Amino acid sequence: MARDYYDVLGVAKDADEATIKKAYRKLAMKYHPDRNPDDKEAEQKFKEIGEAYEVLSDADKRAAYDRMGHDAFKQGGMGGPGGGGGFGGFTDPMDIFAQMFGGMGGFGGARRRRTDPRQPGSDLRYDVDITLDEAVRGCDKVLEIERLVPCDACSATGSKDGTKGYKTCSTCQGTGVVTRQSGFFIQQSTCPTCHGLGQTISNPCSKCRGEGRVHKDVQITLHIPAGVDSGTKLRSSGNGDAGLRGGETGDLYVFIDVKPHEVFQRDRKDLSYTMPIPFALASVGGVLSVPTPDGAAKLKIPAGTSGGTIFRVRGKGVPALKGGSRGDLMVEVQVEMPTHLDAEQKKALEEFTQRLKANNQPESENFLKRAAKYMK
Ligand SMILES: [Zn+2]
Ligand SMILES: [Zn+2]
Repeated sequence: MARDYYDVLGVAKDADEATIKKAYRKLAMKYHPDRNPDDKEAEQKFKEIGEAYEVLSDADKRAAYDRMGHDAFKQGGMGGPGGGGGFGGFTDPMDIFAQMFGGMGGFGGARRRRTDPRQPGSDLRYDVDITLDEAVRGCDKVLEIERLVPCDACSATGSKDGTKGYKTCSTCQGTGVVTRQSGFFIQQSTCPTCHGLGQTISNPCSKCRGEGRVHKDVQITLHIPAGVDSGTKLRSSGNGDAGLRGGETGDLYVFIDVKPHEVFQRDRKDLSYTMPIPFALASVGGVLSVPTPDGAAKLKIPAGTSGGTIFRVRGKGVPALKGGSRGDLMVEVQVEMPTHLDAEQKKALEEFTQRLKANNQPESENFLKRAAKYMK
């Protein structure tokens, strides 16, 4: 009679996912065959722990187990092998362990036999500076990169004899790892002969020395869509390094940096700037010609506009990268006081000032009223 899975992991019947996972990790580390060489009991325990974890970590299997106990996984039960597409046999406990500790390398995971001498190529990174105008309109950039490309002399197999030239590595018997025992510990490391590939080449290609790929300077034309911003990452699929011996090619990732602009500041989709305007225009009102990424636009300035007023010019910002409407342009006006006035100009202004009435400068009037008692 198989032991209760909850007892096997030492958890309560209502234990949550995290608790089950934690219990499994602890026990699996303890009973792993690498730590208990030639210990049949530990090996049996390790298998039992794997089974219990496989069932309890899967909501469907756990529910079936709670309902029917071990019968749920017996031959002829709802999930026995061939039992109507339900639960098949149990997974190799080594594979369960490797899934959980995949990142640890060596211990457990590396026991898997390698049979494929191909390895995927690396992804590459390329940084591109563009102007704001290019970000607004989109552009094409020619990137000069050095990447690994498939070797044409051997059709990327790395072997003069094609794939027929592959031989199982005699150092590691194809596992890709070599094991060394020192005292209690078993150390595993990547096989130095085949570099972990599990296979060697009897007659390597002389152009690529068995790699199936060679360095090459290439030019790639990349379209940069309108709307990109600093930090945007574009993927150019299949333009990374070629894989080892015909393995999958990596991707090229292009990181965008938009250089600061002499006129426009950018905040996501919107653009802005502060524009000085003559004080007479601010006072009388009129039509102002303002810069936009598409050229000049007319902006109506109402009479009596004060400095700091922000006008929105719709649709003159940056296009949205992933659809949606284009951003706006914010124009903040700054009323510029004339400087370096000559005597005649000063006289004209003084005459003008004398002709001002109380309601010409309502803000000043209001302020002076409020502050009157502090001005005596
Ligand atoms: Zn080897
Ligand atoms: Zn070659």
